[in-house]
Amino acid sequence: METDTTRLGLIDTGASSAPVDEVSPIATLHRPGSVRLLSLDAHGRVLDWINWQDAACLYARDAVAWTLGDPCLHIHGGTSRLTGIQSGMDLHPIIAARGHARSRALDPTPNLSNQALFARDAHLCLYCGQQFNRPQLTRDHVMPISKGGLDVWENVVSACFHCNSRKSDRTPQQAGMPLLAVPYRPSWIEHMILSNRNILADQMAFLKAQLPKRSKLAA
Ligand SMILES: [Zn+2]
Repeated sequence: METDTTRLGLIDTGASSAPVDEVSPIATLHRPGSVRLLSLDAHGRVLDWINWQDAACLYARDAVAWTLGDPCLHIHGGTSRLTGIQSGMDLHPIIAARGHARSRALDPTPNLSNQALFARDAHLCLYCGQQFNRPQLTRDHVMPISKGGLDVWENVVSACFHCNSRKSDRTPQQAGMPLLAVPYRPSWIEHMILSNRNILADQMAFLKAQLPKRSKLAA
């Protein structure tokens, strides 16, 4: 039997995904953290990741303007008592919705969470260069808050506990601990790529085509 896992062609970027046999599509869909759909406004601007329930609502409300890619999920509906036929719905990996035009800035600033910060820095401590698991990483303010530093993307880096406490309330220069990379604010497209560990091939191709050439994620 062809499973949904193979149909979806999931790109595994770290999460373990053992092959699943003989599961119903619904069971696959209910796995936490599995497939998400990329929602766009009607002009093709990337809005956000949405789960399959929200995507199904767009289809049901006839709010889908257009889609890209082959259907990647099939949702089973109820069975008609009259006909005995089960209703169903195919969801596409990229969904442009009517009436969702993004009126504000074209490139909104991603929310600065520790998860997003550690993803930007590839889970490396930007002082010692070693890779760490999430619980061992901290948010370091390059210019300390006590010295007027701000809690913004351009002033924060991932740091291990050891380096963070060694640097203490000093600048990198004062501490003699040069940064290995310059902190930056990810673009919205970069944020989309960094915030989903199970990006489908169609979605990744769409997102990468919009990355600026300078992006570290463009490779
Ligand atoms: Zn370190």
